[in-house]
Amino acid sequence: MKRLLVPLLALLASLSALALALPQPSTSAATSSQARQSLPAPSLALTFDDLPYVNPGGTNYRANATRVTTELLAVLKAHRAPAVGFVNEDKLADAGGDFHLRQWADAGMVLGNHTYSHPDFNRRTVEEFQSEIARGDRITRRVMEGRGPYQLYFRHPMTHTGSTRDRKEQVNAFLSARGYRVAPHTIENADYLFNAVYARARVREDTAQMTRVHEAYLAHTFAATDFAERITPEIFGRAVPQVLLIHANDLNADALDEMLDRFESRGYRFITLDEAMRDEAYRTPDTYVGASGPTWLFRWSRSLGQTISFKDDPEPPAWVTSRSDR
Ligand SMILES: [Zn+2]
Repeated sequence: MKRLLVPLLALLASLSALALALPQPSTSAATSSQARQSLPAPSLALTFDDLPYVNPGGTNYRANATRVTTELLAVLKAHRAPAVGFVNEDKLADAGGDFHLRQWADAGMVLGNHTYSHPDFNRRTVEEFQSEIARGDRITRRVMEGRGPYQLYFRHPMTHTGSTRDRKEQVNAFLSARGYRVAPHTIENADYLFNAVYARARVREDTAQMTRVHEAYLAHTFAATDFAERITPEIFGRAVPQVLLIHANDLNADALDEMLDRFESRGYRFITLDEAMRDEAYRTPDTYVGASGPTWLFRWSRSLGQTISFKDDPEPPAWVTSRSDR
């Protein structure tokens, strides 16, 4: 026994010497893992454009709008997710009135102005665009009446905020004078392209194609989310609340539940746009001037004088883009 014990003790001694020589968990690693644990959960505000419903060209606008509105609001309620819906009031004749807007308001959502008829600011004079804004909230404001004070939000169609500094500033001043804040977005998933393919497949009951689009859409959404999560700390040195821009369409009526499940499994909590915009990062000016409509992460990065590359912001698959305009 003794003969065995001695080499065993020697072994133990050499093992403890080895343990001392091995790299110990460093204080900085311990601190960063504590920091990770104490970080607030990532947060996301949802925004829906083109209310009450994106017509893919089919008939029965009113019935389809009711189906999509009912489904979107049921999913938002199930996930306790607040949202802002941006309205084009020119669609309310096809929708048979303000019924769908009342559904949104009754569900506790905020309605915003997306202009009356969704013109491209790049193709309108400043005066024409301002009259589209003024005409864009008449019914919406009536629907929201009596629901307590709320922030008025405006979103430019295609997020085209002005092709010259002068045009942008004139419209921004007009919006501010009317109490509007421009609604930013930090994640965009080209849902309108996927939806164009999806809605046609839905009409012809092509379930295989619907599934294919659905899967590709969610994959692209989370590739875009990965990118936003990666680039945000490069801009601000930390995570900030994200804002997703999607549309009130067939695809989201069918895919939103799974999308929100997947955001939740990544640790996200859903917050109001007001709450997102209380983050200091959202006070960064948007000085972008141009004909396209990039995300606010890009705009803020450029306002801060950064030259961070956005070339890895993922594009939707080519088969979706090529089928979307058929
Ligand atoms: Zn739009």
